[in-house]
Amino acid sequence: MNINPDFDKETRHIYWSLLLERIEQYLTDINEYRVTPKLDPALIRDFSSKYDFGKALGFEKAMDHIISGLAEFQVHTPHPGYYGLFNPRPVFPGIAGDLITAVFNPQLAAWSHSPFANEVENFLIREFGKKFGYEDSSIDGNFTYGGGESNFTALLCALNNHFPEYAQKGLSGIAQKPVFYASSESHHSFVKAARMAGLGTDNLRLIKVDSNLKMDPSHLESIIKQDLNRGCSPFMAASTAGTTGAGVIDPLDEIETVCRKFNLWHHVDAAYGGAGILVPGLKPLFSGIEKSDSLIFDAHKWLSVPMAGSMLITRHKNILSQTFRTTAGYMPKEAEGMQVIDPFSHSLQWSRRFTGLKLYLSLLVFGWDGYAEILQHQINMGRLLKEKLSQGGWKIYNNTELPVALFGHPRNESPEFVNIVCKNVQKSGNAWISTYLMQGLPALRACITNYNTGSEDIDNLINELKINLKRI
Ligand SMILES: *Cc1c(COP(=O)(O)O)cnc(C)c1O
Repeated sequence: MNINPDFDKETRHIYWSLLLERIEQYLTDINEYRVTPKLDPALIRDFSSKYDFGKALGFEKAMDHIISGLAEFQVHTPHPGYYGLFNPRPVFPGIAGDLITAVFNPQLAAWSHSPFANEVENFLIREFGKKFGYEDSSIDGNFTYGGGESNFTALLCALNNHFPEYAQKGLSGIAQKPVFYASSESHHSFVKAARMAGLGTDNLRLIKVDSNLKMDPSHLESIIKQDLNRGCSPFMAASTAGTTGAGVIDPLDEIETVCRKFNLWHHVDAAYGGAGILVPGLKPLFSGIEKSDSLIFDAHKWLSVPMAGSMLITRHKNILSQTFRTTAGYMPKEAEGMQVIDPFSHSLQWSRRFTGLKLYLSLLVFGWDGYAEILQHQINMGRLLKEKLSQGGWKIYNNTELPVALFGHPRNESPEFVNIVCKNVQKSGNAWISTYLMQGLPALRACITNYNTGSEDIDNLINELKINLKRI
């Protein structure tokens, strides 16, 4: 073979240095970038297909091409003017963790192939399970590629728990139609999960929210009763701790009570908000989560590790095995007879990346307290943002301790105005915000997702917004 996929040691050294230089440059220059790219599909398509692989480009040129493409054509989520959808600026140890994972390429599917990596992930699951108040000895769970997979896994666990025949016979083996519940503000991953599990979206009942956008437990109870009267079989209710639109935490304790009354699996989607459990001032908002049957939590959102890495945690020790157990003749057998778990028979995935490492390294480096500080800063900035919006004449619509603001202007609450303000802010290149239809009310949405966002950045956003007030 004429080609050396590893390159030789000296060449590698040069390439590492070049790569690091470019990465460092991005990290130090990011504040000078436009947050938003110009969206010109033809131009970007041409740029992406500039080299057709007919001729080998070489590492340096290829790297320059890719870094230019990313620098020019993406919404820069690491920019302090990005007030977006829970996409963080990734912390340094998180980036380093992902790099180590790529080099060692541990395969976690079978415990025996990567026992250290597997025990690190198990340790993280136990530690977070305890933080959420689960009893140590009952904690189980696994890492997934994202909240969508985690919620789907929870739904499958709930189905298998309620209908032990589901694994073998499928839905056709269940006499009464299974139905489950989430609020009208819940994440749309439950819609996909309903489809993928074969339940169909008609059997996901969306429960009303109150004026604070929290799931209404009495409406939940009345819909469950209706379903029972119609001969359906309710099996799960999903609360949200930190909704995607408004950052609102459902009344977990009350929903828990309804779930116990009707023997439903209580799942808590804490994909975004879950990190709040580490902040002493926010912890009480999660009261009741310790009694839930399962919960999910995304490390790539508020814990600011690179995408993606989510956790599904349950206090039912056997349910994941019951849901996913299978044997495969080709899988490694060295650990037979040992008290260990092979993730391939315990989760949806087969080949499994060491997703937990970026979080493990970050936690080792910062500790719980360090992380709490990083989060607290963002909470403070969220408060400041809301204050400055109010002072600027904007009205805050949502009510949450988390750093998410839904807002509009009382003098013009039309969708046209909201959309034009959002577009103008994005077009300025100084900030990125979005819009959200809040139970029919069009709102602007700004969320602190970047631990580097400071009060000057917030002033910039307020100025960009202010320019639009002339249009009212
Ligand atoms: C982001 C989010 C999800 C989906 O998670 P991914 O990691 O994007 O798959 C689910 N639920 C909530 C509340 C979220 O905010």
